[in-house]
Amino acid sequence: MTEGESIRFKRLTRLISENFGAFFAVIALDGKILHFDLSKAAILGLQADKLIGYPVYDQILPGIHREMWPLSCEVDCDCFPLVVEYTKVDKTVLWDAEIDLVEGNVILLGNVVEDASNQSKSYDLLAERVRRHDRLMGNLPGMVYRCRLDRDWTMEYVSEGVVALTGYSREELQSGEISWGEDLIIAEDRDYTWNTVLEALSKQEAFVLYYRIKTKSGAIRTIWERGVGIFDAEGKVTALEGFIANATPLVEAQSELRITNTKLNNILNAATETVVIMTDTDGVITTFNRGAEKLLHHRAEEMVGKETPIAIHEPAEVITCAEELTAELGEPVSGFETFVAYARRGLPDRRVWTFVRKDGSKFKVDLIVTAVRNDDGEIIGFLWVAEDITNQLQVQDDLRLAKERAEASNRAKDEFLAVISHEMRTPLNPILGFSNMLLQDCEDEEAREGLEIIERSAYKLLHQIEDILNFIGIDKQKTKVELKPTQVWTYSHNVVRDLESMSNGNEFSVVNGCDSLAPAIDKSLTVLLDSELTSQILSNLITNAFKFTLRGKVCLHVGWRDEDGGVLRYEVSDTGIGIPRDKHDTIFQPFTQVESNYTRRYEGVGLGLAICSKLIEVLNGRMAFQSEIGVGSTFWFELPAVRVDGTNGEATAEEMNAQLFSKFRVLVVEDNLDNRKLIVGFLQKIGADVMTAPDGPTAVERCRQYDFHVVLMDISMPEMDGFETTQQIFAGCSTEPKVIAVTAHASEDVKQKCAAMGMVDFLPKPVTLESLRTVLESHWSLR
Ligand code: ADP
Repeated sequence: MTEGESIRFKRLTRLISENFGAFFAVIALDGKILHFDLSKAAILGLQADKLIGYPVYDQILPGIHREMWPLSCEVDCDCFPLVVEYTKVDKTVLWDAEIDLVEGNVILLGNVVEDASNQSKSYDLLAERVRRHDRLMGNLPGMVYRCRLDRDWTMEYVSEGVVALTGYSREELQSGEISWGEDLIIAEDRDYTWNTVLEALSKQEAFVLYYRIKTKSGAIRTIWERGVGIFDAEGKVTALEGFIANATPLVEAQSELRITNTKLNNILNAATETVVIMTDTDGVITTFNRGAEKLLHHRAEEMVGKETPIAIHEPAEVITCAEELTAELGEPVSGFETFVAYARRGLPDRRVWTFVRKDGSKFKVDLIVTAVRNDDGEIIGFLWVAEDITNQLQVQDDLRLAKERAEASNRAKDEFLAVISHEMRTPLNPILGFSNMLLQDCEDEEAREGLEIIERSAYKLLHQIEDILNFIGIDKQKTKVELKPTQVWTYSHNVVRDLESMSNGNEFSVVNGCDSLAPAIDKSLTVLLDSELTSQILSNLITNAFKFTLRGKVCLHVGWRDEDGGVLRYEVSDTGIGIPRDKHDTIFQPFTQVESNYTRRYEGVGLGLAICSKLIEVLNGRMAFQSEIGVGSTFWFELPAVRVDGTNGEATAEEMNAQLFSKFRVLVVEDNLDNRKLIVGFLQKIGADVMTAPDGPTAVERCRQYDFHVVLMDISMPEMDGFETTQQIFAGCSTEPKVIAVTAHASEDVKQKCAAMGMVDFLPKPVTLESLRTVLESHWSLR
């Protein structure tokens, strides 16, 4: 109480006592008298020098009211009226008193109603007081008692509350019919109760205890009791007085709370690899789990109630983050707020932080800070959950390094492939070309046979090189899919026509429709298709069918389903040797062949189907097969395909050739004489006007002088390469010819570079009559 308040109280006290004959006391919650109207002390029979600073129950409220202190703990009301009967040896005074809790102190307003030392007063008044006293006692949330100190706890007085608490009436207890000690306290708790009370009495202290009673209905109930001994002048206990309340709900709640807390602690501590820290709203740590102890090397006792999480963070990092948050949130953020600014706003806050251990060593964590709220949604603290990510970061680092290494080795592989493909294919080019050309005009049977062997072997070698390069080069991410309108029926026939020569004596035809799986197509059906990649798949499947069918029938079925925007289905069926069941699962794996016998007989490196499945993946299709030994095999695949209007016409290849190559002027730029001669020979065969240039500068010169439809440009040339030559042709010519790259550098990178230079297509070496014809066909229509 402040000095001002104290003066005001004194004035009030004087006013009340002078004018109303009442008295007034201010008592602290622990029962100590702070102010008392000392002028009333004599009337009340009190010793004036034993009031201020002494406990209120020493003189003013002895006996029965002693157990009510300290009020702050056990009385949960701010107004507590009572009647006090006050007896001194030489004087009896009755007075009413009202107790109010005001601003943390107890105000006791007393009014002397009777000086009962004069025994002549009427009993009526006394009876009235007793009734009032009883009523008030009955209103208490429990029972008040006075009993003897014996094992029965013989009750001299019990308030009305006993009925609600025990089920027995006041009379049953006060008459001794029911013994508190025998009938109510359960057997297990009797000694404990007795001993606890005796011990408190021996020290002249109040006793507080919990024990169990059996109510009249047989229910077991836990009760709370607080009482004091009443001592005579010699210090002998004359009675016990106290207050008893039902503690069952409290005990149950406490035990539930204990279980919950235990569970929570177990969970927190079981997370030995996770830091879990809780703080109050000011940031002071309230929980520091075992994981936090283990990872940070601090003991919970060192942190709880003493530190904030700033102690485990790297200061520089906190400052940087605070600056970022200040800028982001538009208000100053610093210190502990740095961690909880988001959480306070109900936002999730997840960041990578550096934690500092007790010994100063550091480690990275993935930390989530969230606000802990009560049922009303108010923030009552914050929760830190952090995971040590040192290993994870290490793995990420390793992965990055591995990726970089893999990319470097991939680049090296690409370069190696480019060189190998050039070196291996360049000599094959003239071998194949010239054998092909010589065969066209060779009349001598023996020479022809030799030439055919040369051509076959060279092709075989070429295919094997191509298979290997192809397999390594196909990549879902890198391989470019070029969808062009393709008339399916014509396209399918062209595929058959191109492969017919390899049929190995088998019947070979196109069949419209794949039974019920994909009905027959309309012959004008035109879809967007990467015909080049599709041809590669078909070519692999068809050549396999030829290879593994000694004499029989190979069919290319084509069908169309309208589902999911359109599905194009191809089936390659044969009546060949079939594939044993135990090989069905491995057949698509690279370098897999069914039997070495067959391999030798049929040749191949076991890459055809592996290439097919890679290509199918690139084209987002699916593929499978059915096969039976001795009956044959059917390999099928389906591609998603968009149907487009318009057709490429149904002209036959021959008709198209006739239109195509008349008065078609072509410049062949090639430094290698053999290759130059070869290409010129092919072009002449298909009736084009041909001019040649052995190097870049000559090519540029020729283009200035003449108007060409197409320039076939070798890429690898000394001095000025094909790229630079193309650039200069485009820069210096009035009419821009279509430039087609001719190179053994079959890599994707080179293709992309050609496209970037403005070249319209790419013709891989070795050039054949067929490949030249196809590429020229596809560009003629562009002019
Ligand atoms: P290869 O280049 O050796 O033909 P593939 O990957 O194309 O490699 O085929 C792998 C193996 O699958 C072949 O060696 C063969 O044993 C078997 N195979 C593929 N197609 C057929 C088929 N139509 N009939 C029988 N066996 C086949």
